Amino acid sequence: MPMNDTCIVQAVCSDCRAACEVTVENIPLAKFMLREQTVQVLFHDLTPEERDVILGFRSGYYLCAECWEKFDPEEEE
Ligand SMILES: [Zn+2]
Repeated sequence: MPMNDTCIVQAVCSDCRAACEVTVENIPLAKFMLREQTVQVLFHDLTPEERDVILGFRSGYYLCAECWEKFDPEEEE
């Protein structure tokens, strides 16, 4: 069995429809989908933005980094 078995996870932004992809290993992804561990534990080497893509992939709701800023009340002008 190859050690670097990976797949591409894609989430589409619920606001601007931008598609974001991140390449992850199959085994931690399977554990995440089964809710055996949190995204922070399984994908601790990814950036917060990349983890958001994985979370959005599972939940079906995703906001890209740009739209996060748009909806962040701290950033309002
Ligand atoms: Zn967006």
